[in-house]
Amino acid sequence: MKKIIKELIKTGKKIVHEKLVIDTGGNISGRCGNTIFIKSKGSPLNSSSIKSYALIDLVTRKVIKGTPSSEKYIHLACYKKRDDIDTVLHLHPVFSTAVANSSIKIEAVSYELCATLGSKLIKAKYKPSGSKALANEVAKLVTKHNTILLPNHGIIVVGKGLAKTLKRAVAVERACKTLIFSKILGVSKFLPKKEALRIIKLYKNA
Ligand SMILES: [Zn+2]
Repeated sequence: MKKIIKELIKTGKKIVHEKLVIDTGGNISGRCGNTIFIKSKGSPLNSSSIKSYALIDLVTRKVIKGTPSSEKYIHLACYKKRDDIDTVLHLHPVFSTAVANSSIKIEAVSYELCATLGSKLIKAKYKPSGSKALANEVAKLVTKHNTILLPNHGIIVVGKGLAKTLKRAVAVERACKTLIFSKILGVSKFLPKKEALRIIKLYKNA
């Protein structure tokens, strides 16, 4: 089995373990040269089967093998906009989705978030799942952001390396949980912008 598929299977299992998706929800991909390895349509992320991953040519956008996830347009749009990334995760975490649905201001809640995110958290406009409109909305935001919150849906997290990008997704979910609990407790202390930017810069190439 190709190394990248082995790593995707391992990452998928960790995502289910972290409860960032349920059932067949969510999809992940990795880029190897001009080939995208992406979760197959209808496969659960904790599957160990090689058939759980389909292949797409990034240049021609043609499917090389299998049936890719219906969110393939998002994955292709992210790779097209960002030469510096080789991983795209689309997940349905509870707290991140709750923050995406709310009108609360997304602030720098923790050192952990700034260190792992490498950018600000941003919210997309709602577009139907699987649509090209959603991919276009993500494409607009992914040029400057590594994580995009999708209202009534989930999150998109991009990065270099599956392990590092998953760490980023887990940190975002934990930060959104912290943000919600901070608001419930009436706490309004967040990291000042200058300090948040200092931490982002410090960990940029870590
Ligand atoms: Zn989804």
